[in-house]
Amino acid sequence: MPENGETAPLLGEGIPNLARTGNLERETPADRRRRLATIRAVVYTVLTVVFVVALASVLFLWDKITGVVGHLPKDPEKAALYILNNAPVIDGHIDLPILVRSAFANNISAIDLEKPFAGHVDIPRLRKGKVGGFFWSVYTDCPHAGSEGEDFLNATWSVRDTLEQIDIARLLVQKYPNTFAWTLKSSDIKAAIGRGQIASLLGVEGGHQLGNSIQVLRTYYDLGVRYVTLTHACHNAFADSCGIFEDPKPYHGGLSKLGYALIDEMNRIGMLVDLSHTSDATAKQAIKYSKAPVIWSHSSARAVHDVPRNVPDDILKFIGFGQGQTDAVVMVNFAPFFVAEPGKADVKAVADHVDHIAKVAGKRHVGLGSDFDGIGEVPVGLEDVSKYPALVAELYRRGWNAFDLAGVTGGNLLRVMEGAERVAAQMQKAGIPPAATKYDKRTDL
Ligand SMILES: [Zn+2]
Repeated sequence: MPENGETAPLLGEGIPNLARTGNLERETPADRRRRLATIRAVVYTVLTVVFVVALASVLFLWDKITGVVGHLPKDPEKAALYILNNAPVIDGHIDLPILVRSAFANNISAIDLEKPFAGHVDIPRLRKGKVGGFFWSVYTDCPHAGSEGEDFLNATWSVRDTLEQIDIARLLVQKYPNTFAWTLKSSDIKAAIGRGQIASLLGVEGGHQLGNSIQVLRTYYDLGVRYVTLTHACHNAFADSCGIFEDPKPYHGGLSKLGYALIDEMNRIGMLVDLSHTSDATAKQAIKYSKAPVIWSHSSARAVHDVPRNVPDDILKFIGFGQGQTDAVVMVNFAPFFVAEPGKADVKAVADHVDHIAKVAGKRHVGLGSDFDGIGEVPVGLEDVSKYPALVAELYRRGWNAFDLAGVTGGNLLRVMEGAERVAAQMQKAGIPPAATKYDKRTDL
């Protein structure tokens, strides 16, 4: 074996050693043929490798590659997961605390949310459904007929029960610190999602839960509540309700004087005005009057399914960024009796509501407010919190793009919250004092 590199062939048998020969022009025709054959072989090898990699990419890595460069997979289910991984669901209304009250007498020690849990919500299903946050509804029933007395004056027990509901929600958030994050501002929600946690906020579902007191509103805010639904299914001292299936006879004709004062104070402190459950007159007056963007935390479209709990087109038209319009988000309710005729509620029917609200109010004004754990029945294909991807996939199939879908899943709500936070900051900077408005029917003050 030659040891001397100078004399051994350095580039393989028969390949001229250019370091030694120094000049290609001196090669023989046979050397030249061999050299060109070698170059051809190398080029063909490289091209073959490139082709195989490209083919493998197309066949096996297409979704990943297109995702990275900003295009979505063609498969709607895969596209939905890609969107939700980047823009998870922030649900406007989940009733877990009332389930804990009714089924476990407020004892959270009896509950393990890390295992399959009764109802529609537990941690494994929240994770599977790509949930990045939700409003824990802290709800108490409307007073039974007559129990609150004339002018709603005896309904103060509702404040006690609401405080108990707030306690349940807070304790459950604390019980799972790796999963849930207590959030108070839109920036907190984004930060929690960034850490992989589920942002947790509170929503009070009815003005009757305020005990006729604007001071209670401020106290709820301090406890973490970020929206108050002006009414539940009953009229109260602040506003008229739409009832459940039949519009009841109006009491105030929309907002009362106290109701207007309530909205002023909600705007000032940054509490979102929620118009689900309100009468049409209440909603029209409130959306016109509120300085801050408003929400419907769990309502669908009346033009798609005609029940009073759904939002009619003549109110959807007040929503927007134009003249005479207010920014808002209508978060679509999944309750089958609000979605479609009996037996017809499914993913497509819910998507019809999203589509309709988007068509009339705009894609930037629709969101999701499932009402999970507050509804006995569920739509086919949207049985619990693990199923949001099916709805996103259905909308994608209908031509919604990633940007608009990210708005539906949570972005639109965040924008509305930011708007309300801005208005509150401006009003507080302007020195507007806390409201001291008293319910004029009260005799104790
Ligand atoms: Zn409700």
